[in-house]
Amino acid sequence: MSKLLILGGGFAGMWAALTAAREAHVAGKSLDVTLVSRDEYLTVRPRLYEPFEDGLRAPLRPVLEPVGVRFVPGEIGNVDAAARRVRVATGGSETTFDYDRLVLATGSVQRALPIPGAEFAYDIDTFAGAGRFDARLRDVLREPERTGALTFVIVGAGFTGIELATDMRRRIRVLADAALAGRARIVLVERNTMVGPDLGSKPRPILEAALRDVRVEVRLGVSLTAIDAEGVTLGGGERIASRTVIVAAGLAANPLTADLSAERDALGRVVVDDYLRVPTAPGVFAAGDSAHAKVDEEGHSALMSCQHACPMGKHAGYNASRELLGLEPRVYRQPMYVTCLDLGDAGAMLTSGWDREVQQTGEETKALKRTINTQWIYPPKGTREDILAASDIDGVWPPPT
Ligand SMILES: Cc1cc2nc3c(=O)[nH]c(=O)nc-3n(C[C@H](O)[C@H](O)[C@H](O)COP(=O)(O)OP(=O)(O)OC[C@H]3O[C@@H](n4cnc5c(N)ncnc54)[C@H](O)[C@@H]3O)c2cc1C
Repeated sequence: MSKLLILGGGFAGMWAALTAAREAHVAGKSLDVTLVSRDEYLTVRPRLYEPFEDGLRAPLRPVLEPVGVRFVPGEIGNVDAAARRVRVATGGSETTFDYDRLVLATGSVQRALPIPGAEFAYDIDTFAGAGRFDARLRDVLREPERTGALTFVIVGAGFTGIELATDMRRRIRVLADAALAGRARIVLVERNTMVGPDLGSKPRPILEAALRDVRVEVRLGVSLTAIDAEGVTLGGGERIASRTVIVAAGLAANPLTADLSAERDALGRVVVDDYLRVPTAPGVFAAGDSAHAKVDEEGHSALMSCQHACPMGKHAGYNASRELLGLEPRVYRQPMYVTCLDLGDAGAMLTSGWDREVQQTGEETKALKRTINTQWIYPPKGTREDILAASDIDGVWPPPT
């Protein structure tokens, strides 16, 4: 039986596995589909700025096993594309997996800041990281009178930094009380001279107003030069006493991308062709945050986002499985692009198109963001038939209600 191996159980990897299982089912043929990932959960990374709870991740086995995908928990050590072999550490031993087709979907990682004391910083990049930050927040709120306890320095005014900064006061209110939330100092540091540097000019007035509304102190055009247990030093020598520094900038493709002798972009993502194949590695596809793929004919490429990772995963699983089944693959294109950003107590913002025309703000948008974050990006549920139906490359998940 032909073997399809999928590396990474995030959005791209899960959808690659499900779509491949569906294509084999529809073709009435057998395919050995195996997904290897660090743990048994899909971490819903877009929610990691929210108050920490177990529901920020979803178990993978209940969605993979009913459709016949084998799940293997393990740490992927290396990909040998020439030998079509992957080395995985599983429960204290090492296993090798051979494949006929491979989908690399190991996502992205946050790089540590290249400054002294980077190890003092927290992040919300992974479930474990978000858990550590939550524990820290609870600790400092227990001793609010200690110097720097109520000052939170957030590094990076991109999507993640803005969502975290605008939600911080609400989180403190929930964990402690309104008085401490009111006293907190939230500092958002951005080395560029504008907030949302990658978001373009159209949404900026809304972002700036939201940050003002929830009293986030924005420091633009400045970088951190050092972090220690008591605070941060900014370029120019200014010191901010803070016991909690959170880095929300500096994503790069997973280092496993370097195992493929392939072209990579500035973020380390493997450059793939129209079918999400890695041109220099026969049998290998890449999807999600690990892949640089063309989305339209206007020169845009996929961003590190769920919005792109899910359809890319579906296409990679579809194409890899159909190659093995002797069926036609399909070009990946995704011309439509929207952004839905949570702005904490200041509401939310929806933009459409690559120039990010603002479509909507306020309560309605907040409700939409909630639906996206708690329903649309979660794995499909239900019976084997429901999961297979949700895995149709032309289907819509979740079905409109
Ligand atoms: C705080 C935050 C907020 C975000 N907000 C949004 C948003 O609002 N909208 C949006 O569209 N996107 C958002 N994103 C981005 C989005 O989460 C990513 O683009 C998406 O998760 C990428 O999916 P992926 O499947 O490529 O990778 P991931 O979801 O990162 O999955 C990769 C998987 O591979 C596994 N893995 C990696 N290396 C190994 C290894 N060596 N061995 C075994 N397993 C391994 C990981 O454990 C993980 O399960 C946000 C991200 C963060 C961190």
